[in-house]
Amino acid sequence: MQANLLRTIHLLALLQAQLYSLVQCWEILHILTPVLGDNLGSSKIISGDPQYSGNAQAASSGGAEGLCTNDLQFQGGADHPLDNPASLNPSSLDIPPGDIEDLWLQDTIHLGDLQTAADFVKELQGATLDDPSLGMSDKALYCLQNPLCNQPPTAIDNVTRLTIDLYIGTPSEATYKTVHRAILHFLLDLQLPSYYKVKCSVADLTGVESVVHDMCIKSCIAYTGPFLDLDSCPKCSEPQYNQFRLQTSSGQEKIPCQEFHTIPIGPQLQALYRSPESASCAHYLCNKVYHMFEDLEHADCLDEYLDVLHGTDLIGAFQDGCIREDDIVLMFSIDGAQLYAKKVSSCWIYIWVLLNLSPTERYKKHRVFVGSFIPGPNNPKNIDSFLFPGLQHLVALQKEGLRIWDVALQCEVDSKVFLALITADGPGMMHITGMVGYHSKHGCHLYCGMQGHREQHGKHYFPALLKPLDYDVEDCMYNDINMRHLPIPSYEKYHKNLHIVTTSPNQRQYCAQHLETGILKPSIFSGLDRSATLGLPHSVGSDIMHLAALNLPNLMLSLWHGTIDCTRPDDRSTWDWTVLQGNVWQTHGQAVASALHYLPTSFDCPPRNIADKITSSYKAWKFLLYLYGLGPGLLYGILPQRYFTNYCKLVLGIQLMNQHRITQENLCNAHLALLSFAEEFEDVYCQCMQTRIHFIHPCMHSLVHLLREVLRIGPPICSSQWTLERTIGNLGKEIKQHSC
Ligand SMILES: [Zn+2]
Ligand SMILES: [Zn+2]
Repeated sequence: MQANLLRTIHLLALLQAQLYSLVQCWEILHILTPVLGDNLGSSKIISGDPQYSGNAQAASSGGAEGLCTNDLQFQGGADHPLDNPASLNPSSLDIPPGDIEDLWLQDTIHLGDLQTAADFVKELQGATLDDPSLGMSDKALYCLQNPLCNQPPTAIDNVTRLTIDLYIGTPSEATYKTVHRAILHFLLDLQLPSYYKVKCSVADLTGVESVVHDMCIKSCIAYTGPFLDLDSCPKCSEPQYNQFRLQTSSGQEKIPCQEFHTIPIGPQLQALYRSPESASCAHYLCNKVYHMFEDLEHADCLDEYLDVLHGTDLIGAFQDGCIREDDIVLMFSIDGAQLYAKKVSSCWIYIWVLLNLSPTERYKKHRVFVGSFIPGPNNPKNIDSFLFPGLQHLVALQKEGLRIWDVALQCEVDSKVFLALITADGPGMMHITGMVGYHSKHGCHLYCGMQGHREQHGKHYFPALLKPLDYDVEDCMYNDINMRHLPIPSYEKYHKNLHIVTTSPNQRQYCAQHLETGILKPSIFSGLDRSATLGLPHSVGSDIMHLAALNLPNLMLSLWHGTIDCTRPDDRSTWDWTVLQGNVWQTHGQAVASALHYLPTSFDCPPRNIADKITSSYKAWKFLLYLYGLGPGLLYGILPQRYFTNYCKLVLGIQLMNQHRITQENLCNAHLALLSFAEEFEDVYCQCMQTRIHFIHPCMHSLVHLLREVLRIGPPICSSQWTLERTIGNLGKEIKQHSC
């Protein structure tokens, strides 16, 4: 295998040059030429172009009329709007791009919150596996460094089996004890182990145990990293320990008011590789990459995208030697969850997805690794402190290596753990990347530099492509934006701007600089070694789940209902697209319900009457089926023609982009449809009116990024939040079952 990979080195050099220039500029045309044929350069698509408008179906059948060579170009970023924020801080001009070695030095950081963020990064960089603050027991650490080379004993006696079932099947220690007592009433002589003992048995069998850290009782911070030595919360001043117990024991009993659990990834990976079935499944990535490189010996480019490994970023990481044959490749995913229906308490969960497994395996419930549970009652005020233990463990593994007994190979392998992607929804992404929110001037988390427009007295920016008529808003006076010339995100640019923001001399300059750079603070993920991750902004995934199944349905329905805000002097009575109201809406809802009988059972949960259930039972999956499945049929004749045509372009683009297998032809058609949709949307709904800028939600901008995301990291579905949402759903169901 190693030899084969070496033999392909010369090919890889060619491949990289080709793929990278593909993303940058002309080569995409080379790839797309077989699809586009002689239509290249015929005429340019513009908003409402008669050759394309109303002809969305033409694209799906292979036509791409009206495409010009500029339509699929990307610029190298020469005029990137984020290029010159240093003008605000002249002293930063001499920082070489990418040189951040001195960034974490205390004397260059002047603001408290930035210094805290930098401290987390710095401490992460110094992580070691035997650091006691990591919280691993001596036994767990020994097992991690000396992996078991045998499987757990399969012959478990009936009593042990019963207690393990009981341990897994009951939601709490109290319930376990209740059932435990009940069984002993019935079978007096049974030697049934205690909750603690069975917990230890499970840890012994799997080699997996959680590490526990203290946290603020109001969920503000965790006592980790730079907060480790505090004894009260720096945000709300709540004490770390139970004050009654502390005082009555003269300071001896330190009982934390609240704790949270982290499950280190290393032992979980070791456990997976000890199972013959899982271990052989985990060879997928290595085998596929090998075959992909073989295929590329006979072809100029890939015909289709089926996985993240088909994207240029991962191919580049393999080529650069950042990922080797035996390495582990992970995706990180985080979200807030409402696990208790009746309790107003949110918690946060993060998971790891093992990209070494095939796409048909890695997203399954039993293949997903839970990283940590961060309990409520509130959202964390410093999420870095909660991520710290899990990332500290990861960084230590990256430095010291992870020894794995691979039962499929019957040998021990020394793996490096590569973190490819980090995913979250919009608000979550802001927390973990340290970038500004979506409604900021540079709100794009893919860091393309897109600048938003805002209304005259509005604080929120919206990613409008067209400058409104009679527009005179300070700091937004740029001309129309051509999404075909989307600048390329750059690691160097991001770090240069991060340096500028982080070293702001005072609050006033900091505010000006984060507005101009789109960066609020260093991300804790900056503490990972550059060779062990794609690195920001490249490691940010596009979240097609929230985009297609929640954000876009929310926007389109709020328009068709007429519930979207109306800014004076605009007048709702002039909105001729607000058709889903009154009887029409009720009749439409019934039509949706009636479609039930025509849907295959494999479509999972079918949409109900949307007029009755939109606020109660419509979740992501139902919105997806409704908007991109039933909608084109049921809204025909209801939506006025030009809005219907515009909507059909969205449907086409999302249907193609949402596939598990995206061909080059699909990609081209989807991109054309989505670009045309986004441009035409501004034409038909906003009509260049300043009062309608707020119609252009951030999701409109995310849509036109999808082409580049496929080229970069494969089909968006492979790095979506569906996996985490499903995990949260599974956990929620189990809690509800237990509480019944
Ligand atoms: Zn607090
Ligand atoms: Zn962008």
